[in-house]
Amino acid sequence: MSPPRGKPSPRAPSITPLGAAGEVTGSCYLIDTGRSRILLECGLFQGGRNADARNRARWRFRLDGIDAVVLSHAHLDHSGLVPRLVRVGYSGPVYATVATCDLLSIMWQDSAHLNERDVEWENKWRRRAGKPLLTPLYSMDDARAALARLQPVDYDTPFEPAAGIGACFHDAGHILGSAIVALDLRHARGRTRVVFSGDLGNSETVLLRDPTPVEHADLLLLESTYGDRNHRGPVETRAELAGVLAAAQQSGGNVLIPAFAVGRTQELLYTLGQLEREGLLPQTQVFLDSPMAIAATRAYERNTELFNHHDRAQLAGKGLAAWLPALRYSETTQESMAINRIGGGAVIIAGSGMCNGGRIRHHFKYNLWRREAHVVFCGFQAAGTPGRALVDGARRIRLLGAEIAVHATVHTLGGFSAHAGQDQLTAWAARFRPHPRVWLVHGEDPARAALAKHLQRTAGMHAKPAIAGEPIML
Ligand code: ZN
Repeated sequence: MSPPRGKPSPRAPSITPLGAAGEVTGSCYLIDTGRSRILLECGLFQGGRNADARNRARWRFRLDGIDAVVLSHAHLDHSGLVPRLVRVGYSGPVYATVATCDLLSIMWQDSAHLNERDVEWENKWRRRAGKPLLTPLYSMDDARAALARLQPVDYDTPFEPAAGIGACFHDAGHILGSAIVALDLRHARGRTRVVFSGDLGNSETVLLRDPTPVEHADLLLLESTYGDRNHRGPVETRAELAGVLAAAQQSGGNVLIPAFAVGRTQELLYTLGQLEREGLLPQTQVFLDSPMAIAATRAYERNTELFNHHDRAQLAGKGLAAWLPALRYSETTQESMAINRIGGGAVIIAGSGMCNGGRIRHHFKYNLWRREAHVVFCGFQAAGTPGRALVDGARRIRLLGAEIAVHATVHTLGGFSAHAGQDQLTAWAARFRPHPRVWLVHGEDPARAALAKHLQRTAGMHAKPAIAGEPIML
């Protein structure tokens, strides 16, 4: 990958993918109109051995040429490198929706905290071994400096991030504040309307609205995370969850749910509230044991005007804690440890989603060896994580320095995905008239190939895979 260096003049108007091309993390697109340059997305590479090195190597071109950063949503694989960008000298504005800015204040500081803690831990043995010390990718100070760059913008309100670039956010229905980004680029060859899907929501999930239909674009950057499959429907998913809750109650064990803090957790809480109303939640205690997920839940509660009409009316102005009376927030370490004394009859939702960190590991230690316990996965488990090992049927796993036998029953629920499936992606893209040039981003190659085929077959649309470092001409 060779991002453009310096400011060649005159510059050909183009969009250069710098990440999330052939993979699902590291979202970043350099948009150059010849007059202005902006970064659309500034995401962390996550997972994989060289992610840290890739995050550190990202900025090989001159930062003084970047006029603005525009973010589609708060997930770190789309936003998490902004504090790094600020650390290495960027001092321009960062545009995002109002609710995204709300979530970023939680997520960037949490990410910086984890970074500082990990480096401190690593440096302990490096100091003893006389090895060179590491510095964090970014610090808490960098995160705060990045937060000071934020420019919140409402949905459907045009703004101009740089000279000759018009922009507008439309609701993408993926997580709170998530946006489809429409850009009107004026350049020497004329005008190009670019629409970036961002991460497109699954229209069958609860709480958020459906992705906004958009109809005009010359060029479409379309995500393709689940370009090769459709998700199970909401009724089926809820019934499956109810089945697990009933089985756990019958066997007398706890239900452990490793959860992603932003989005999935809040949907899960809402769904548990629905089940309770239907008499299908036999457990009397539901613990949310993650300070990050609790903070994100409060951000959702501050922004209920962004929920869909039906679920908003159901909540009747009350928060998720009132909707689900069995819900208990567990913020302190002491509160978390107290849950370990409960041998059965509780639902425990704790991070991290893939079980490679966070408090879920402690709950696993106290529950995985119990035959009566149940574990529910409701999100993607990357290769190499303890979550993936459990999904793949491991009978023993290593956690917190100990080997634990797995006797609990492990379930996987596919319907909680926050991304549109293949049919939803195609239906959304097929509304554009006339058909734009389509470039597939944010997806692994098999998913992109399947989506390209599906778009061609069902909508007559031609789509190409975007390649990192290769400019797409406007
Ligand atoms: Zn996302």
